[in-house]
Amino acid sequence: MKWQAHNIGFFNSNGVKIMAGKMVERTCKCGCGVKFMARVADVKRGWGKYASKSCKAKAQEKRTGQYTNYLRGIDDRNNRDDKEFSVSHGIGGQSGSSLQGW
Ligand SMILES: [Zn+2]
Repeated sequence: MKWQAHNIGFFNSNGVKIMAGKMVERTCKCGCGVKFMARVADVKRGWGKYASKSCKAKAQEKRTGQYTNYLRGIDDRNNRDDKEFSVSHGIGGQSGSSLQGW
């Protein structure tokens, strides 16, 4: 793996591997108020909305607009792919490309 300045962040300034890209603090959208860290790249894809799988489930139960989101293509892949929740809260340090999709 190449050293890549600071823009991607495979290593922090101490040379420690972080491999998670830039992280941003998010507040869970389900209303529970839980804060968690999501990858900026995921947030840009419309992910990183919920602190956990149960939060997402809660939010979707409350919500009737699921189909609307489907039409917008926002939550569709999250709805279908519960593997996205295999990383528990926050900074998993995982480098897999499909992790942390919530
Ligand atoms: Zn929540």
